Amino acid sequence: MSAILGTYNRKKISFKKGKGAYLYAHNGKKYLDFVSGIAVNSLGHCHSHMVRAIQKQSKKLIHVSNAFEIPEQEKLAKRLTKNSFADFVVFVNSGAEATEASIKIARKYFFEKGMPEKNRIITFKGAFHGRTLAALFAANNKDHTKGFGPRVEGFDQVPFGDHEALNKAITNKTAAIMVETILGEGGIKVIPNECLVGLRKICDEKKILLILDEVQCGIGRSGKLFAFDYAKIKPDIVPIAKGIGGGFPLGACLVNKKASEGMKPGTHGSTFGGNPLAMSVGNAVLDIILKKGFLKNVERNGQFFKDELVKLKHKYKNKILDVRGKGLLVGIKLSINNNKFLEHMFKNKLLAVKAADNVIRLLPPLIVKKEEIKKAINIIDKSLKEFK
Ligand SMILES: *Cc1c(COP(=O)(O)O)cnc(C)c1O
Repeated sequence: MSAILGTYNRKKISFKKGKGAYLYAHNGKKYLDFVSGIAVNSLGHCHSHMVRAIQKQSKKLIHVSNAFEIPEQEKLAKRLTKNSFADFVVFVNSGAEATEASIKIARKYFFEKGMPEKNRIITFKGAFHGRTLAALFAANNKDHTKGFGPRVEGFDQVPFGDHEALNKAITNKTAAIMVETILGEGGIKVIPNECLVGLRKICDEKKILLILDEVQCGIGRSGKLFAFDYAKIKPDIVPIAKGIGGGFPLGACLVNKKASEGMKPGTHGSTFGGNPLAMSVGNAVLDIILKKGFLKNVERNGQFFKDELVKLKHKYKNKILDVRGKGLLVGIKLSINNNKFLEHMFKNKLLAVKAADNVIRLLPPLIVKKEEIKKAINIIDKSLKEFK
């Protein structure tokens, strides 16, 4: 019997090494990895630049307290703000911590402005913001919250895409709207650009803050550094995590000057957040992602992938209902059972992961080669043909 608390239904396979877009299992088989640790291994497995950064930094300094200045942190924060709407960055270790920091920053902003009653956050059905208590009840997925009451108060939820319900939900107690720019766990639901522009407009009109959760879709996954870049809007607060660490635990919350105003020394903290080793990895990931042409290539490869999948949709009309996503955040909505189909693809040595709405998610590393995408397409084609 396993000594690990049984919070996962684990597949009976383990890996001894990874290289690029491939994982090598202990059973001797080689798998094309389109899970990427769930949008985490942005540079693929064991990228030489990232490995070198870890080796180099770990020989010098791994951890010091945030009671001291940390130059590697300053460097990463500068690069993130230079390439985004943000003026400041606070570092944490995971996505849930980053979304919780976002909620705290929004509430504190209005508190310090003398409006403590403005503390409620509007969220959307089908959202996912992490597994800590506030993040759980923010998303309000019954499968996740069941048994973990009492509920954390302060969230008002509206159906995804329901403009009227959203307008109605905004009251003088609303502090912010929080939504993923592309809903990941919820089934790769892309918010159209015009709706993002609309969200920004509503927030301006009602004088509330816009939090865009880019933990999954951020840091190049969508083909732009941030998925909201497609809509050319500027949010107020943006939690990121997954891709920025490339596999090393690292989260951050990006914030503009206005929204940052409530946060003073002592208002937030993290023992591990922003340690020199994590920062060196984050900087190494950005070295690659911010290289000229890198994101264009992600966008191009993502488009190629989607175009090929749409061809399969026409070929297997009775099995594929929809192909969606942006860049290399791709979802296929199936009419056949997504779990069983994932199992079948696994037998054909392609790894992918499910999402809500009977969707399978395909999240290749951002360094994936066109040949590898073609190989994945062939496996998906074969699997669809074989699937009964
Ligand atoms: C994964 C995810 C989180 C939570 O991240 P953890 O690192 O698992 O805490 C939050 N928001 C979104 C959109 C995510 O995809």
